[in-house]
Amino acid sequence: MNSKIWLSSPHMGGKEQEFVNEAFEQNWIAPLGPNVNNFETEIAAYLGEDVHVAALSSGTAALHLALIILGVSQGDEVLCQSMTFSASANPIIYQGATPVFVDSESETWNICPIHLENAIKDRIAKGKKPKAIVAVHLYGMPYKAEAIKEISQKYDIPVVEDSAEAFGSTYKGQKCGTFGDIAILSFNGNKIITTSGGGALVTKNKQYRDKAIFLSTQARDAAPHYQHSEIGYNYRMSNVCAGIGRGQLQVLNQRVTQRRAMHNFYKEIFENNKEVTVFSESDATRFSNHWLSAITLKKEGTKNLDKEMLRVAFEAANIECRPLWKPMHMQPVFADAPYYGSSVAEDLFDRGLCMPSGSNLTDIDRSRIAEVIKEQF
Ligand SMILES: *Cc1c(COP(=O)(O)O)cnc(C)c1O
Repeated sequence: MNSKIWLSSPHMGGKEQEFVNEAFEQNWIAPLGPNVNNFETEIAAYLGEDVHVAALSSGTAALHLALIILGVSQGDEVLCQSMTFSASANPIIYQGATPVFVDSESETWNICPIHLENAIKDRIAKGKKPKAIVAVHLYGMPYKAEAIKEISQKYDIPVVEDSAEAFGSTYKGQKCGTFGDIAILSFNGNKIITTSGGGALVTKNKQYRDKAIFLSTQARDAAPHYQHSEIGYNYRMSNVCAGIGRGQLQVLNQRVTQRRAMHNFYKEIFENNKEVTVFSESDATRFSNHWLSAITLKKEGTKNLDKEMLRVAFEAANIECRPLWKPMHMQPVFADAPYYGSSVAEDLFDRGLCMPSGSNLTDIDRSRIAEVIKEQF
């Protein structure tokens, strides 16, 4: 059996272990220390726009703190892109709030400004103004940042920018992770760079950043004893993990180039294939890190081939492919949540597959992938 080709697996750059060793030598084996502080400074320098960064235990933790900081609590409503990974929506439930899901538009596959505004108007008419908007850069593709911001300002509802999949992407030259009132990054093992597990909260608002640090370290008031006037969390990043992150950050741009090369590989393979579309930037204002390369099969007339057959064919060759994120409004756990939109996300889910996209794939891996595609079409 050939070795497994993964969708997206960790890819070390070389310097990670040195930073981890430093943590051991200095005995900073704790959720604080020089690697944590330096990792934050280095992320902020990479993103620009004068952002402040809090390194946390996961992207999900960052989303949870973002909602708390924006005042989301019991009984509130939060607008959320339906087509996404469940971690974008789960923290809304942690807060006892209700997610209100919104469909995607077909250009970027992200939250549709038209349906978003309709949802806001309808929720207000029904008596409750939503507390926040969770917008996601799916697979690294920047969402319609200007249109979303305009709506956010018009109705005075802050944006939580879920940039978990888009570290290294830009829109009009501005880095993803700098558009929302609060943004989040993820460094989970499958993301473009990893700390094994980890995340960050990013914001231009220094007070929000300070609040995130306070809440992520058990909400200790200033006193010699342990004194608390708020409920805290244990969400800070480990200094060992931050060491991995510092090494990974050094190769982020290289990883973006490599992921984009995988996207080009699929563009070339499917260039003359009328049955497959490779998910790409609609114009030069968007620069996706192409964290995952995704394809969609033609709506009808694909000769006896559906996405599941294609996935199974790859699986038989020990190659991992995965359907696109199943929209949240179709998930059993969110069956009761309101939904605004038509069937753009549902249709994408019906026809779409994520292809192996790792920056560490070899020429041999690529020819094995190409071989299966050749057989299937
Ligand atoms: C990975 C991911 C998250 C969660 O990040 P973790 O670090 O795994 O908690 C949130 N949103 C999206 C869109 C993701 O892909």
